[in-house]
Amino acid sequence: MDKIAIFPGSFDPITRGHESIIKRAVPLFDKIIIAIGENIQKEDFFPIETRIDWLHKVFISYSSVEIMTYSGLTVDFCKKVGANYILRGLRTSADFEFERSIGQINKQMYPEIDTVFLLTTPEYTALNSSIVRDIIINGGDPAPFVPEAIKITH
Ligand code: ADP
Repeated sequence: MDKIAIFPGSFDPITRGHESIIKRAVPLFDKIIIAIGENIQKEDFFPIETRIDWLHKVFISYSSVEIMTYSGLTVDFCKKVGANYILRGLRTSADFEFERSIGQINKQMYPEIDTVFLLTTPEYTALNSSIVRDIIINGGDPAPFVPEAIKITH
């Protein structure tokens, strides 16, 4: 059976932290689906089309990486696409506590799924999309924090 993982998130925008986790996971799975969650309660900063376009640019040379969008429960999306793993990055102990409950509940809802965690490399521990948005809003340069393949004009 193919090892298919989804990497869920909003990627608003994608950061070097996301990029690092996905690239390090490529050798572990036959396919990784980057799953952009569409959350009606959360207002987007960048339009979904822009985020998809950036992800395509970053992973253009990775044939096992696909980009899709989804709404609703992550486990329902996993069933739909035949994924048996959910990939997540762990930055801090707070991430661990948060991820543990989601991972355990997901497993209870869909026993065929397992969550796989990769530890963040130290240089990206402090990085998240919200900080990058703050830098942009306040006129700073986001380039050191987003993948080299994308240009965010600000
Ligand atoms: P968003 O895309 O909305 O920021 P999350 O914060 O849930 O969504 O991030 C999606 C996934 O990427 C999570 O597994 C998260 O742990 C991981 N991630 C986010 N930032 C980093 C980072 N700097 N280093 C490693 N993993 C990260």
